[in-house]
Amino acid sequence: MGDGLIRAMTQDRTVRALAAVTTVTVDEARSRHGTLPTATAALGRALTAASLLGAMLKGDQTVTLRILGDGPLGGIVAWSDALGHVRGYVAHPLVDLPLTNQGKLNVGAAVGKGTLHVTKDLGLRYPYHGSVPLSSGEIAEDLARYFAISEQIPSAVALGVLVAPDGQVLASGGLVVQLLPGADEEVASYLEQRARALPAITSMVYGGHSPKELVEEALGELPFKIIETRAVSFRCSCDRQKVEETLLALGEEELKRLHGGEDGAEVLCRFCRKQYRFSQEDLDALLAQIRSG
Ligand SMILES: [Zn+2]
Repeated sequence: MGDGLIRAMTQDRTVRALAAVTTVTVDEARSRHGTLPTATAALGRALTAASLLGAMLKGDQTVTLRILGDGPLGGIVAWSDALGHVRGYVAHPLVDLPLTNQGKLNVGAAVGKGTLHVTKDLGLRYPYHGSVPLSSGEIAEDLARYFAISEQIPSAVALGVLVAPDGQVLASGGLVVQLLPGADEEVASYLEQRARALPAITSMVYGGHSPKELVEEALGELPFKIIETRAVSFRCSCDRQKVEETLLALGEEELKRLHGGEDGAEVLCRFCRKQYRFSQEDLDALLAQIRSG
């Protein structure tokens, strides 16, 4: 089964639930970036979170999640559009910390203390931006806090990535349950009770749960409708023209510095690690463009 997500709503429209299975996507991110297990888990959780935030968008809106902590990972960026395409990177992919006392990947220590930023490009004049201090660096808890504080939506969030001893991603997924205006106390405490008894998201995904089955586990007896189903995949929107625009924006001095070597220059996309080669003639042409203004 491929990666995907669903957006669901209870019949009385007071509870929204989103669930994603992102195993293949996160393993692709791992192989592109060469992340070690702790970094894989952190990047995977961030990419899954971005896909869930992206599921709340429409048209050509996009969302960027930045987790800027003082831990050894040195920052994580994850991006999603409204079509289930995600991409992202971690500043220091070669981070692998000892497991926690519970035998878990220590994402919280790898992220450290800092801030979670969510920026949504909604096609308006200015992008929407919300940020909250990181509470644990485990990302799910931090995202729940972002929903509660910045969007004023009480939310439960679960994110998990299961990494094999050889580094491969065995399971990855996420779940968001949100109380919308009008949700009654009874429903809230029922959902809290479900959340406490819920198995780890990684074991549900590893056991073959689909996004719909994840929502069923979370909502229990509450009847719900699926509003939307989407595929999720790792896809970067970079291309040669965008890289050229970035090089032009560097200005003449910076570009001359790049020009130093005999073989031209190689530019690496931060998001997907794709290499773009620029020969000396290519760089000369760009310099000429800058000079001609
Ligand atoms: Zn790229």
